[in-house]
Amino acid sequence: MTEPVFDWQKGFIVDFALTGGLSATAVSTRRTLSQMRGMFADSEACEKMLTSSDPVVYEFYELGAPENAGDVAFGTSVTYPGRVGNEYFMTKGHFHTILETAEVYYTLSGEGGMLVENPEGETAFFPMTAGKAVYVPRRFAHRTVNTGTAPLVSFFAFRGDAGHNYAAIETKGYRKLVIEGEDGGIRIINNPKWETT
Ligand code: MN
Repeated sequence: MTEPVFDWQKGFIVDFALTGGLSATAVSTRRTLSQMRGMFADSEACEKMLTSSDPVVYEFYELGAPENAGDVAFGTSVTYPGRVGNEYFMTKGHFHTILETAEVYYTLSGEGGMLVENPEGETAFFPMTAGKAVYVPRRFAHRTVNTGTAPLVSFFAFRGDAGHNYAAIETKGYRKLVIEGEDGGIRIINNPKWETT
């Protein structure tokens, strides 16, 4: 393991894609399908897939930003193409521990969208395509969904001390699912597993 060498006091430059070159010291975290058991609506399809392989669903590169309000944490997220049943591969998603903090995602390549929801029940799905940025507002949980056939790569930045709260999403799921319809189109439907308690 190489220790990150980013200088948060004096500044630094880094390769934008963070997948090589100057960014060789970024730390990658990978999530495989077996680590996401129960997060896809079709558990049966999930278990069936896992009998033959355990694909990487997504990974992200982090630079170890100090967890200060005045620092900016950033990195890249790669969500791979695929489906579990008719539900597209996606990230776990999270609220920020400091709920009142926003985040920006800039899409480098691939196609998909950002599924968001707040505790009050408002939801939205913002398309993500190369060259476009998504602003995830304060209070909204966010999850990247790959609806295409290539990896969906985005660059993100948020307040250094925002923190990640995965628990709420892991226990309740999202209110909405992003699935491929029978005609091959993208559908946003209600999550039959979502519970209010
Ligand atoms: Mn976030």
